[in-house]
Amino acid sequence: MRTIDKIEPFRVMQLLERAKELEAKGKKIIHMEIGEPDFHTPESVRNAAKKLLDNDQFYTPSTGAPELQKALATWYKQEYHVNIAPERILITPGTSGAFNMLYAVLIDAGESVLLPDPGYPCQRNFIRLAGGEPLNIPVGPDTRYHLDAALIDKHWQAQTRAAVVINPSNPTGTVLARESIAELAAACHTHNGYLISDEIYHGLTYGTSAACALEVDDRAIVINGFSKRWAMTGWRVGWAIVPEELIEPCRRVMQNIFIAAPTLSQYAAIEALKATDTIELMRSAYDERRQYLLSELPKLGFDIVVEPQGAFYIYANVSKLTADSKSFCWSLLEQAGVAITPGEDFGVYQSNTHLRFSYATRLDDIREGIARIAAFLNK
Ligand code: PLP
Repeated sequence: MRTIDKIEPFRVMQLLERAKELEAKGKKIIHMEIGEPDFHTPESVRNAAKKLLDNDQFYTPSTGAPELQKALATWYKQEYHVNIAPERILITPGTSGAFNMLYAVLIDAGESVLLPDPGYPCQRNFIRLAGGEPLNIPVGPDTRYHLDAALIDKHWQAQTRAAVVINPSNPTGTVLARESIAELAAACHTHNGYLISDEIYHGLTYGTSAACALEVDDRAIVINGFSKRWAMTGWRVGWAIVPEELIEPCRRVMQNIFIAAPTLSQYAAIEALKATDTIELMRSAYDERRQYLLSELPKLGFDIVVEPQGAFYIYANVSKLTADSKSFCWSLLEQAGVAITPGEDFGVYQSNTHLRFSYATRLDDIREGIARIAAFLNK
């Protein structure tokens, strides 16, 4: 099979397109499918960008604007008490760019990476694009929907290069404890591979905090970006923190595949790191929505087996309501105007009996969504 034929569409996009069609016909749709913050980018970032527009926008070095690399190194020290040399922080066009770059470096044809199923769908395709094979490992409530050391030992193959954690998880919102990250990292080292930690939802945690993999393993590869915590999806700035030996090969790939992340966005992003108060306002608004959904959803028959403490997602078991979450989501959209993502977007393991709610939507709309779902179920 040709590589491109192995690339699956991002299925929720079909649902989103239908939702847009219904909206164009004047129907109000409640969006609980999208994983994009509904908040404005912090004002200080937008103001900085306006000023920066007067400057030339030439390429920065491929590995990123040195000022942003330094600002991030300082931020890691404050936030996680880890010392990272700025040159290990590679600035990329979103975390998506970081993953593409990384897999181009790490994977050769036929090599594999261990991923959690359910997990962020694009991961599988990034790996396939690099000629590799995603090994999707079923994970459930017993491991808080994350890989653990036992699963790594069980599924690691001779050709496996790395294992991925998404912490907090998309789609489950579950947070991995520091000790579990340390155990995972140790298991990856035993097999001479890397632990890759996708930390894009860091900072969006409720009643807990997520540890950075670099706190427990200096050789972990950390991927993060400004899209979620800082509400900067379209600015396209992310980063990868890599061990010394990967800097040079990563630089070569970056020079070739994207030359550099957008200059304007990189410099504006330096302001984001200072916008602590604005970020806290967003975080507490997400938490209010999360608590509302956690109290309402179970009453309607959605089982939330492990309490999500991060990101802006709730992963629910719908086996009391349907054995086919995909048709359930489509009927809900057509009949009640509520959009939710079916489990199939995140993998195959028990996907028919699960779905994901996103609460990156105003609380008033979420309340209306719950009322509409209740009416839909009572029909
Ligand atoms: N990683 C996870 C777990 C995500 O949920 C997303 C986006 O939804 C991304 C990475 C990609 O984000 P971006 O490329 O905007 O940084």
